[in-house]
Amino acid sequence: HATKKTMADHLRKYESLFTLTPQRMRMIVEAFKDSLELGLQKPKQVVPMIPTFVFGWPTGQESGDFLALDLGGTNLRVCLVTLQGEGKFEMTQTKYRLTEEQKQDEGTKLFDFCAECLKTFIDTNFTDEDGNSLLKPGELLPLGFTFSYPCYQTRIDHGELIRWTKGFGVKNTEGRDVAEMFRQSIEKYELPVQMTALINDTTGTLIASHYVNPKTKIAVIFGTGCNAAYMEDVKNIEKINDLGISEKDQMAINCEWGAFDSFEHEHLPRTKYDTIVDETSNKPGEQAFEKLISGRYLGEILRLVICELIDEGVLFLGQETYKLETPYVFETAFLSLMESDPTDELLMIIGIFTHFFAVETTLAERQFFRALAMLIGRRAARLSACGIAAIVGKMGYLDEGCLVGADGSLYNKYPGFADRVHEGLIDVFGEKGNNIKTVHAEDGSGVGSAIIAAMTKVRR
Ligand code: ADP
Repeated sequence: HATKKTMADHLRKYESLFTLTPQRMRMIVEAFKDSLELGLQKPKQVVPMIPTFVFGWPTGQESGDFLALDLGGTNLRVCLVTLQGEGKFEMTQTKYRLTEEQKQDEGTKLFDFCAECLKTFIDTNFTDEDGNSLLKPGELLPLGFTFSYPCYQTRIDHGELIRWTKGFGVKNTEGRDVAEMFRQSIEKYELPVQMTALINDTTGTLIASHYVNPKTKIAVIFGTGCNAAYMEDVKNIEKINDLGISEKDQMAINCEWGAFDSFEHEHLPRTKYDTIVDETSNKPGEQAFEKLISGRYLGEILRLVICELIDEGVLFLGQETYKLETPYVFETAFLSLMESDPTDELLMIIGIFTHFFAVETTLAERQFFRALAMLIGRRAARLSACGIAAIVGKMGYLDEGCLVGADGSLYNKYPGFADRVHEGLIDVFGEKGNNIKTVHAEDGSGVGSAIIAAMTKVRR
């Protein structure tokens, strides 16, 4: 009879499915460059390349007190940023958690809640011990609003929500000017605030990273989603040629690159697990690149492989495995934990499977799970490298080199993620790939919003 396959035999199959060769990566980079160019030429392309109306780099000398309000996927943050010039800043912030109801409620209620939090923050931070306001009569604090959902902008302080992402479904908001909606809430609460800029978190991270280190040319967020921004010459943004903006100017572009290869699915190597993730998602076909990379999906991809091997009778024979059968129960943070398990016995992995899923594992299985996490995490990092390489190649940054400001839990917490991105860049570019380095952008989305508020104040 046939000899039973070992876990190592099974692993070989997944190795070939999830491994990206340098040659394949270079093909992806070429297709990616074409998509970026197309998005600059015409409106409504797969990769939308959204003009942000943030003109050029900060000088690093911006200074003063600025408020930033950051509406992210999980939290609302209110920040007071003191820009000190010379690339330095200080920041105090308060986080407010958003409930699941708030994410599905009426738009006006969400923006009223933002204004309420802002009011509490201003009352706390701009009042002396006797309860007197520290603001001069009529003084307005400039505020940057970080709103990390795709918006069409025609001005820096205006933005029409194209669609909610990241699980939000707030009513009566899509298609409307979210800056104006928030401005009405600010007025309703009579806040001493002037909102001067609506920005995306990637754009904020780009500007904040450049303020700290002018070698930064690109920013990437690796969180619930995945997206990038960079600075483009206005003359290359053909689709806004008719707006009469000087051809000598530069403007930050919010790529919304998570959409690369959506619908056609021509360029990215997708496994059947990726197809299942896509087809069972709330937006099938969309965000094809993001679905292979971001924190929301990596755990689910690994879970689907485990489920396949349960069905084939390879794993957990004779055990109850229903706890592993619910979509999205296997968190991406578990992949981080599995990869960083320092023990020979892989005790951390024992813990994850017994505690969360009530199944026993053999050492061979645990080694297999760890190797699988490595394959999925490595693929995500190498695909990200392809996106970065596309911008670097298109903009001609390779010879002089540049920094890439990066933020998000996947980048900050997944062991070895940054190193794998760098290895990927070397596979694409050879030795010169060493000229491109990612750096963690601390609080980029909030600080960037403040800097942009400062830049727009000067420009007015
Ligand atoms: P957001 O993108 O919502 O602003 P984050 O940058 O914190 O916030 O990203 C959240 C995503 O990061 C979630 O999808 C989560 O699965 C993932 N994540 C959280 N902790 C970790 C971790 N330790 N390792 C890898 N991914 C993680």
